[in-house]
Amino acid sequence: MLLLLWVVVCSAYPLNGAARDDSMDLVQHYLENYYNLAKDVKQFVRRKDSGPVVKKIQEMQKFLGLEVTGKLDSETLEVMRMPRCGVPDVGDFSTFPGMPKWRKTRLTYRIVNYTLDLPRDAVDSAIEKALKVWEEVTPLTFSRIYEGEADILITFAAREHGDFIPFDGPGMVLAHAFSPGPGINGDAHFDDDEKWTKDTSGTNLFLVAAHELGHSLGLYHSANSEALMYPVYNPFTDLARFRLSQDDVNGIQSLYGPPPASPDDPVVPTESVPPETPAMCDPTLSFDAVSTLRGEILFFKDRFDEKKQSMDPGFPRKIVEDFPGVEPKVNAVFEAFDMNNQAKREEEKINMCNVMKL
Ligand SMILES: [Zn+2]
Ligand SMILES: [Zn+2]
Repeated sequence: MLLLLWVVVCSAYPLNGAARDDSMDLVQHYLENYYNLAKDVKQFVRRKDSGPVVKKIQEMQKFLGLEVTGKLDSETLEVMRMPRCGVPDVGDFSTFPGMPKWRKTRLTYRIVNYTLDLPRDAVDSAIEKALKVWEEVTPLTFSRIYEGEADILITFAAREHGDFIPFDGPGMVLAHAFSPGPGINGDAHFDDDEKWTKDTSGTNLFLVAAHELGHSLGLYHSANSEALMYPVYNPFTDLARFRLSQDDVNGIQSLYGPPPASPDDPVVPTESVPPETPAMCDPTLSFDAVSTLRGEILFFKDRFDEKKQSMDPGFPRKIVEDFPGVEPKVNAVFEAFDMNNQAKREEEKINMCNVMKL
C-alpha cells in the first residue's frame, strides 16, 4: 500500500432533491471508482438486475463484509454513503513484490544492438516513442547514451542469451524485462526470432517496447484488458490512437507521481468559453467533493473550489490556481501521506532478480 488516502465522496450529499436518481448516480460512481465497473456498463446500472452490476455489487459486499445479496439493499446503500478511503478496492495495475522503483528521475538507456528486421532509425524511434509514453505521465526523463552502463540496456537476442531465461523462437514469448535496480535490473530483452515491424503486420516493436519499459520502471502486469500492462499482446491496437489506459497511468504514478507542473505550461483551460463561477447561494447547488486539505475544509464544484468559511476574497476560485495541474472537474478529493520510507525498507529486503515475461 503506497498511500493512505481518505476521501469524502460528495455524492453522499443529496442536495438537489432528486433522491432516487442521486442513489443511482452514487452507485454508478462508487462501482466505477472503487470496483472498476466499466464506464460502458452505464446504461445497465439503472437496471439493477444486469449481470455486471450484480457482480460488482456482490464484490463490493464481499470486500466490505456485508451480506452478499447482489442487491442494493438499505445496508449496502448506507455503506456507499459513508466517508471512505479513496484507494480502489480492486486495483488493476500491480507492481513487483517489494515495489522496486528508481530512486532518481533522470534515467539513461542504451540500445546495445539491433534487429535486422528494421532499419536502425526505426528501432531508435520506436524505443524513443515507447519511453515518451511513460515520460509524459511521470517526472522521469530518459537520455540516451552510446557506451557504458546505462540504467536500461535494450538488447535483441534469440534463444539463450546469458540471463538463464532463454527465448523460445518465433511466437509466444516476445520479450522480457527486469524490474528497476542495478546491473541487469531495468534491462529489456527482445526476442530476435520475432518479425519486428513498424506497423502491426508483424510484431510491433513500439507496443512491445512500451510494455517492457513499463516493467523496467517497476510496473508488473495488469488484469485490465485495456491496459498496456495487460500481459497479452494485442495485434489489433490502433497505433495512430495509442494512449496509456488510466490503469497504466494510475500504476506508474503510484510509483513516481505525476509530471511536475512546468512554468511554461498553459494554466488557462484551452476551451474558448470560460467556465461559469457557480452561484454560491443557489439552493439547488451540489458539490463534486468536500475534503479537509492543509487544515481547511474545501468544497469543489466543476472547476472551482471554495473554503468552508469563505470570508477570504478571491473564493470561489479555479481549482487549478490552488492545485496546479488539476484541470478538469474533480470526482473526489483526498489528502495523501507518503509511505515511501516504509516501501524503501521493504524493498531493501527483496531479491533484486524479479523478472516477467510478456
Ligand atoms: Zn533476457
Ligand atoms: Zn509483461
